[in-house]
Amino acid sequence: MERTPSVDALSLDSLSVDSWLVSAGRERRAGAPLNVPIMPASNFVLGAGRMYARNEGVPGWEALEEVLGGLEGGHAVSFASGMAAVAAIFDQIPMNALLVLPDDCYQGVVALAEANQIRRGWRIERVAVTDTAGWVRRCAAADLIWLESPSNPLLEVADLDVICAAPRRAGSILGVDNTFATPLNQRPLRLGADVSVHSATKFIGGHSDLLGGVAIARDPALGADLRRSRVLAGATPGSLEVFLATRGLRTLALRLERAQRNAEVLAERLANHLQVSCVRYPGLRNHPTHAAARRQLAGYGTIISFDVNGAAGDADGVCNRLRLIQHATSLGAVESTIERRAVHAGQGHLPETLLRLSVGIEAVEDLWEDLDQALAVR
Ligand SMILES: *Cc1c(COP(=O)(O)O)cnc(C)c1O
Repeated sequence: MERTPSVDALSLDSLSVDSWLVSAGRERRAGAPLNVPIMPASNFVLGAGRMYARNEGVPGWEALEEVLGGLEGGHAVSFASGMAAVAAIFDQIPMNALLVLPDDCYQGVVALAEANQIRRGWRIERVAVTDTAGWVRRCAAADLIWLESPSNPLLEVADLDVICAAPRRAGSILGVDNTFATPLNQRPLRLGADVSVHSATKFIGGHSDLLGGVAIARDPALGADLRRSRVLAGATPGSLEVFLATRGLRTLALRLERAQRNAEVLAERLANHLQVSCVRYPGLRNHPTHAAARRQLAGYGTIISFDVNGAAGDADGVCNRLRLIQHATSLGAVESTIERRAVHAGQGHLPETLLRLSVGIEAVEDLWEDLDQALAVR
């Protein structure tokens, strides 16, 4: 039972991105369900191609991959988590390679790179997100150039357009972690990246109810290599997860629009709050990379990092006093979440009192009231 792809009927050339998100990946055969059903099956009766779910996937992968591949302009490969997608890309890098990472970067990626430093003799260079000349220089020598923009949690925007256009070493890979930007605010492949990665756990799923990841490769050969790595590692997403991720994508444009509008309001107000000393939000004019954000991003995102006056205990106090905003890690969901980032390992470059707020889709005045009461000095 082969699935009839919907790409013949739909093209992103003739649709707005919002319509594509809602309609791509659906079968157009008479009698087909509008949504690919959740299918709890590990194996299939032989003779029709699909044999074993780890290898050929359960129905549902294609839909998710079609929506995201079409959106970002490449070959999407879905994974069991964002880190599984990153690991599949790192899997393509040989022994004794040179790897360049941003100084502000998702800690799991740094930990994976450091594990490879020990096991596979990789050399790691960390470059400031804003040091464009430094990135361009290293593009000529590195085997893997890894960018994250906006970065976690300082929300610095790299000059991706310049860096991705710099001459690279043959056989090297330039990857961009696009999780914070979402596929709506940034399309790294169009800027010249080889591969874009998402933790679908965040904005794509959008409801804190799944783990998932997607890598989108410009070159079909890299896409095929990532698929092979997925099969070998068994880093395959489950049927329920691809269903939820695809369902999340249907509302991504609406969720992002609202959460982003909320974030813009909250960032402005936090910047004027007497108990807050520094607000980092790419949409604020005084953000160090506001110019790059304006040029490169369709929206400034939903994450705000800010420093609370006082010491770590004062910042913890704010988190504990919040009633509507959840004191929880992760980001990109319908509900707002907040945490003090310095509690995590490998965050030594951050102020002790830095809180990372992921703004959700609640009513903005309720969010502000909650923040304001939690920030009030006792
Ligand atoms: C969460 C996250 C990851 C890892 O994704 P998982 O789904 O947790 O494995 C990678 N990069 C960024 C920027 C993230 O926020």
